[in-house]
Amino acid sequence: MASISREKIQSLVELQTVEADIRRVETLLAGTPVKVAAVTLEVEAFEATLAEEDGQLQAVQKAYREQEREAQVALAQIRKSNERLATVKTNKEYQLILKEIDDLKRKNSLIEDEMLACLDRIEAADAAVKQKKAQVLALRQTADRQKAEIERETQQLTAQLTDLAQAGREAARAVDPILLECFRRVQEQVKQRAVAPVVDAVCQGCHLNIPWQLFNELHRFDELTFCPHCRRIIFCQEEEKA
Ligand SMILES: [Zn+2]
Repeated sequence: MASISREKIQSLVELQTVEADIRRVETLLAGTPVKVAAVTLEVEAFEATLAEEDGQLQAVQKAYREQEREAQVALAQIRKSNERLATVKTNKEYQLILKEIDDLKRKNSLIEDEMLACLDRIEAADAAVKQKKAQVLALRQTADRQKAEIERETQQLTAQLTDLAQAGREAARAVDPILLECFRRVQEQVKQRAVAPVVDAVCQGCHLNIPWQLFNELHRFDELTFCPHCRRIIFCQEEEKA
């Protein structure tokens, strides 16, 4: 077994701490695109609803214009029929044209009713679109602020990562080479923290009890010791003095 000392273990713990910080910052940075996408998606969803409502408004406006045209045609026909009234020769013809005018007036009245209903719908749709436009505007501003905030965070994290990487290289250099090799091997096996303190004979890596004899030996910091359960490098952690 490789010889060990409190200091050697301490350098290993420091390396592990820095590396855990690096992983934490890397995870945060990896989440950045997801955060930006979520913000963008919310705005886009709202913009899509606005476009839909705007489309509905335009459809009602178009229907209104068509009714307006129909009403004009009906009025022109009424005018023409009135002109014809002056030129008719027989009473029968006169009655026929009067009936025609009557029908046209009824038709025109129906169109006008539809136009009024249309105007109500236009008013409501226009108000809804205006409200939604204001909401979209506010949402875009919020999204821009959030994106700027994410961008600031990303820059901070990137700078932090650069510092941590440097600290990690220094911490690795401070570890005894044989111990470092062993540490890397265990890291490969456990995929997590490779060095764990033992408190009250409990390995803090796997939370299982280690034999008391082994625990007693740990206090001496004589040789490199592994947890019999999880194979992590273990060391005795002095109890915190209150
Ligand atoms: Zn363990």
